[in-house]
Amino acid sequence: MSFDTADSRLSAIHQRIARAAKIAARDSGDITLIAISKTHEADAIRPLIAAGQRAFGENRVQEAAAKWPALREETVGVELHLVGQLQSNKAEDAVALFDAIHSVDRPSLVAALARAMDKADRRPPCFIQVNIGNEPQKGGCAAADLPALLAEARAAALPLAGLMAVPPLRVEAAPYFALLAKLARDNGLAGLSMGMSDDFETAVTIGATHVRVGTALFGARA
Ligand SMILES: *Cc1c(COP(=O)(O)O)cnc(C)c1O
Repeated sequence: MSFDTADSRLSAIHQRIARAAKIAARDSGDITLIAISKTHEADAIRPLIAAGQRAFGENRVQEAAAKWPALREETVGVELHLVGQLQSNKAEDAVALFDAIHSVDRPSLVAALARAMDKADRRPPCFIQVNIGNEPQKGGCAAADLPALLAEARAAALPLAGLMAVPPLRVEAAPYFALLAKLARDNGLAGLSMGMSDDFETAVTIGATHVRVGTALFGARA
């Protein structure tokens, strides 16, 4: 991507978010753009930081731990989101490193995160990930299990921000976004982490509060 700049890529995404928000009569200030920097080196991330981007997302604790402490030292106000599956034995690392966790999907992880938060006295907001297309290979709790998992999360005093989902590939995402939005409404949750490079505008029109955009900002991953 030598033909354009991080600055122009970032402002193009912001314009597209603003246009989609306008269609839905939403305030684009209510939508957080999370730049998904997984697999990209610090040198690819710095230009986006210089262009003003502050919310970033990674899908692996280890990779984030290797890249972000140094980047954070260079930059004020970085906000780091975990968007990938989390093993319970990495809960302490995740709580120490991330400012939000989007992949809470089972009771054992709720318990591990609650323990880690108590121990660290640090409480990053959590999204419950829903396996919105009922795909066996995907993370997320089944929609049918959501009320019970939410009850456990609330009983454990996990700070709940909302719901997150990754809809099935190569099919129209809108019905899945609409279902996630309904589940959030039904369960009294405000946050909706949904929408990626190919469908974030659709997600914004359906109520996304957090869109997770990688490829459209950084180019294709190796
Ligand atoms: C990689 C990833 C993204 C970003 O995907 P793009 O299609 O590159 O925008 C968003 N959400 C999750 C959970 C991811 O793993």
